[in-house]
Amino acid sequence: MLAFSAVKEVESLLKQGFSQREIASIAEVSRGSVGRIAKNLKTCNFKNGKVVSLPIKCPTCRCLVYPPCIACHTRKYIANKRKIEENGSS
Ligand SMILES: [Zn+2]
Repeated sequence: MLAFSAVKEVESLLKQGFSQREIASIAEVSRGSVGRIAKNLKTCNFKNGKVVSLPIKCPTCRCLVYPPCIACHTRKYIANKRKIEENGSS
């Protein structure tokens, strides 16, 4: 687990346009970690020292949701439950 300060440093270096390999040596973190942070930078945000997901457009219901989409998850869960019940009664 990376320290929050290290994550912040990697983030700012990414924003300055350094390559992931350069950042790994500057911030002394693994290239895998830099890659992960770079990926998170596109979808996540930091708030009060915590990683907060940004709302995304759900590919299924096309609503702006915080991943994972609870509405779709619930719908799937109900559909599955119904299927199981139908199978059980027949
Ligand atoms: Zn959805």
